[in-house]
Amino acid sequence: MGEKKVILVTGGSGLVGQGIRMAAEKNPVADEEFIYLTSRDADLTNREETKAAFEKHKPTHVIHLAAKVGGLYGNMRANLQFFRTNMQINDNVLSVAHEMGCKKVVSCLSTCIFPDKTTYPIDETMVHNGPPHDSNFGYSYAKRMIDVMNRGFNSDGSVCFTSVVPTNVFGPFDNFNLEEGHVMPGLIHKIYKCKRDNTPLTVWGTGSALRQFIYSVDLGKLFLWVLRNYNETAPIILSVSEEDEISIKRAAELVAQGYDFKGEFIYDTTRSDGQHKKTASNKKLLQLHPEFKFTPIDQAIRETCQWFEANYEIARK
Ligand code: NAP
Ligand code: GDP
Repeated sequence: MGEKKVILVTGGSGLVGQGIRMAAEKNPVADEEFIYLTSRDADLTNREETKAAFEKHKPTHVIHLAAKVGGLYGNMRANLQFFRTNMQINDNVLSVAHEMGCKKVVSCLSTCIFPDKTTYPIDETMVHNGPPHDSNFGYSYAKRMIDVMNRGFNSDGSVCFTSVVPTNVFGPFDNFNLEEGHVMPGLIHKIYKCKRDNTPLTVWGTGSALRQFIYSVDLGKLFLWVLRNYNETAPIILSVSEEDEISIKRAAELVAQGYDFKGEFIYDTTRSDGQHKKTASNKKLLQLHPEFKFTPIDQAIRETCQWFEANYEIARK
């Protein structure tokens, strides 16, 4: 047995944190203890509370997920808050982890932080190549600074601070709030109500934007693989393949299938489409972890629809 790892997961109550919990509980490893932190345990925008949480749990490793997170429309309304809150959280978590001697920190970036004007597919070398899309510049610049801090903290070679770049995530425990959340939980919430109330579905935007979606259950498994096996400073993209990118219209059709909803679709084109696409390459991931199998998207959506229906009363909405 190796040395015991105490792994502190910031943002442990959220979509990605719960995906990691499910993966860790399914395949437990004897020398790993996971602690899932929520904002009730510590407000990570506050340095003293961050320090107290680290002093209490004494982690050797950190998976850093905690963030102000939102979909396109939430970001457009509050870019400055997304920037300031996430800068505060990231600076506190990474600097306190370093101060307390944590050996490894895996932080979470996102494919929406890549340059807006770019060549495709996007890869890990392109994070800082040009301005991000205007719709979420605050969130994007704050996330990019994690990569800058990682390089700084790793400069003496004594620790491994790294980051992963997931595409659009969905699954159980997502934020199903319509105005603040991402598209997949938004469509699941809307179509659940359309089916229940026998009303048409309104999709926001033209439906032509393209996205790669990753199931939180798959992402949880990949996070554990990164924690155990990936030791570069440079980020690694965690994504399905480029061929699996789908339009928002197709995503809505798949959710409709998940609920057996056969009603009308209306496209509200007064709403922004956001970035048209951010097609990312998973070549690096597949080279390092070729045996990984992603859950088929129709199955992942069906399971998430079932989770939302079964947990309607407690789901964030
Ligand atoms: P989420 O479901 O909204 O969860 C956010 C988590 O952060 C919650 O556990 C929340 O705690 C915690 N948190 C927020 N503010 C905090 C604060 N001030 N102090 C302490 N904890 C705080 O978000 P998610 O989708 O799981 O996102 C996790 C990570 O993945 C984020 O870094 C996000 O940028 C990244 N990511 C997400 C997506 C996506 O599509 N969702 C895509 C790419 C990357 P409470 O539950 O107590 O509020
Ligand atoms: P993004 O991937 O960072 O842009 O954020 P989202 O996950 O919020 O996805 C936004 C895309 O989905 C845009 O093209 C929207 O026009 C489209 N969309 C369609 N319906 C919805 C909805 O109900 N909620 C959200 N958030 N986006 C929607």
